[in-house]
Amino acid sequence: MKYIDMHCDTVSELYYKQLANIPYALYENDLHIDIKKLQKGECLVQCFAAFMDTQAREGSPFKYINHLIDMFYEQMELNKAYIAPVLSYSDIEKNEKAGLISALLTVEEGQACEGKIENLHHFYSRGVRMMNLVWNYDNSLTTANGISNNNQLQEEKGLTPKGFEFLEEMERLGIIIDTAHISDKGFYDILEHTTKPFVDSHTNARGVFFHPRNISDDMIKKMGERGCVAGVNFCFEFMKSYTSAADYGATFELSVQHMKHLINAGGTDCVGFGSDYDGISSLNLEPANASYMPMFEAEMKRQGFSDDLIEKIFYKNVARVFKEILK
Ligand SMILES: [Zn+2]
Repeated sequence: MKYIDMHCDTVSELYYKQLANIPYALYENDLHIDIKKLQKGECLVQCFAAFMDTQAREGSPFKYINHLIDMFYEQMELNKAYIAPVLSYSDIEKNEKAGLISALLTVEEGQACEGKIENLHHFYSRGVRMMNLVWNYDNSLTTANGISNNNQLQEEKGLTPKGFEFLEEMERLGIIIDTAHISDKGFYDILEHTTKPFVDSHTNARGVFFHPRNISDDMIKKMGERGCVAGVNFCFEFMKSYTSAADYGATFELSVQHMKHLINAGGTDCVGFGSDYDGISSLNLEPANASYMPMFEAEMKRQGFSDDLIEKIFYKNVARVFKEILK
């Protein structure tokens, strides 16, 4: 069955290979995602993030993200027989008819804009159609989740005045707002100051496993009421506690448990996929890479999901948000 995946870090991984003078190609590689694997997995839309860890890398985030976007378009051009970027919802339909996978460009870390609205416009003009305001460190737009703060929930500090300005402009432009990595207060700021659906592109449910990167039942409920979608993340660290290497492993069963919890708290329309492929460990990972995505179906059926519900999670829920936001 076709699917939409709201988040991967494949572009960054290709960039690191390039920096290390290792041959790299989106068509075929040893990563979780390449074109051959996406084809085998029957991918409809893959979101590709341009991401920067602003503490690990020096220099201008704006320039760095632009390098990644250059690389994304180089790979799109080289592989145009198989995949094409999308700027609007109709591009997705057009690509599907032409037998092409759709690639949606996203930015992970709003500091890529360096606090300047003109840089947001620049990224929009380069095809960015989804962005989160923050990664794991507080920035000029908002407070982040508590990973860099002893895993403490950040319930007091949310968006800065600049962050609110960005939020408004993203809604106006038609850039999908992604709440992944933001503080709890930041999440509620976004909820209260927007009217359209947003996404949490890659997350899991705190009700199954507590982690500041996961979302609470109340957040899920509010997302469901708004028509928002949360993408289930395959990162084992966000699924379950573990004490030894032997316990380590993301399974279909665990992912479906998180899906069930999201559905119980937010309804059947609020769940999709946000694999986090190429940003997470490959150790005992299910699905091991994008080519195995169809195997989710059997586990969903085993845990009692109807065909309709499986279709919603594979692509219909996210497609609905894309259709509403992408002009
Ligand atoms: Zn992330």
